[in-house]
Amino acid sequence: MSDAADATTPRADLVARLRTQGITDGRVLDAVGRVPRERFVATGDESRAHDDTALAIGRGQTISSPWIVAASIDALQVGPDARVLEVGTGSGYAAAVLAKCVGEVVTVERDAVLAEDARDLLRDLSPGVRVLTGDGVTAGAGFGPFDGIVVTAMAYREIPPELIEQLAPGGSLVCPVGDDRSGSLVRYRDGETVDLAPVSFVPLVRGTDG
Ligand code: SAH
Repeated sequence: MSDAADATTPRADLVARLRTQGITDGRVLDAVGRVPRERFVATGDESRAHDDTALAIGRGQTISSPWIVAASIDALQVGPDARVLEVGTGSGYAAAVLAKCVGEVVTVERDAVLAEDARDLLRDLSPGVRVLTGDGVTAGAGFGPFDGIVVTAMAYREIPPELIEQLAPGGSLVCPVGDDRSGSLVRYRDGETVDLAPVSFVPLVRGTDG
């Protein structure tokens, strides 16, 4: 059985839309076309899974919009063998898309309940992904250095320096940076940062609960 999106599915429509929204990397578009996003949304939201919006996944968190996921991975510009860290597993959707684009994915979630649910789902859909529970700014360090780092929660005013230290030479990091829930999606590489787009995200929270 093929997991490729055919011409009539919401997933294929989504891929076509992402193309018109400026996503050009064929590996990213192909990956979005192969990951069943409806499995990562809350029960009852399946029919909205491919809409251009973030959706609540419980625990006060969201699954990012498809465009944000695709744009963040597209902006990383890493090769197919890259080792990538994701900070903020949430539903696990972005990790599943990443895993189809790169060689190795380590993802970290600070909320133990979300981490457990994502671990179960990814074990089934994307078995190579390593899901850690903890503060993603530091918890994945032992698996680095990383060719790419994607942060999926809003860092307060600056990219956490501890994450920059986990980059391999020439590696790139994509992170939303802002004051509260709104800010800019920023790419860092070789000491330079570039603003990519205005975005809104849930906040990056340091440490873990309890
Ligand atoms: N990539 C996710 C988006 C999840 S929203 C997806 O595809 O569904 C961001 C997630 O980051 C939330 O689940 C939140 O609990 C988590 N988070 C916030 N701060 C964190 C931190 N310091 N370390 C790890 N996870 C964090």
